[in-house]
Amino acid sequence: MSQSVEEIVSGLAAVAKSFHARGWLVGTSGNLSAVVQREPLQIAMSPSGVDKGELRPDQLLSIDEHAHVVGQHGGKPSDESLLHIRIVKERGAGAVLHTHSIWNTILSDVYAADGGIKIEGYEMLKGLQGVRTHEHAEWLPIVENSQDMPALAGTIGETLNKQPAAHGFLLRRHGLYSWGENLAQAKRHIEILEFLLETIGRTLHIREHGI
Ligand SMILES: [Zn+2]
Repeated sequence: MSQSVEEIVSGLAAVAKSFHARGWLVGTSGNLSAVVQREPLQIAMSPSGVDKGELRPDQLLSIDEHAHVVGQHGGKPSDESLLHIRIVKERGAGAVLHTHSIWNTILSDVYAADGGIKIEGYEMLKGLQGVRTHEHAEWLPIVENSQDMPALAGTIGETLNKQPAAHGFLLRRHGLYSWGENLAQAKRHIEILEFLLETIGRTLHIREHGI
């Protein structure tokens, strides 16, 4: 890793503040992580139950590949740490971000029966890594929500294997996950996907009810 731990945790705190200000991490929801070291795996992870608008760099926890806290720290890692670890392993991600926005929550339910949302024809798709044209069709899978994190991590692993080109996925009535090679790319992916989901949601509403 080219970044120091200090740079990684202050970067995560800055992203948390930014996403909180946009209404994507309200009420202590959502979580953020970034890889500090690959071998053995060590991840900087947001703690459970902390207001993401006030998250300080020193509150970030260091966890291992079993989601156990490394070193002395009073905080408890997020319940969803196992999902972050699975994404890091499946995708080789350097950072994983998870938001609970209103639009991602609504659309994860509206499209649940389809198993995902096909997003195509939007210029903003080009903000996703490797996408060169607005004609790209992005499939955003929707996974049924669960409180059984080991089982949910398994389902997510299968979904990512089946959809190797996906840049993110939705948990039904829960939220959005995306990732990137590093924190900047993961942040960009969340911003792009949140933009596209809000655009789709507002378009559906306007077509039905007018402006
Ligand atoms: Zn969540």
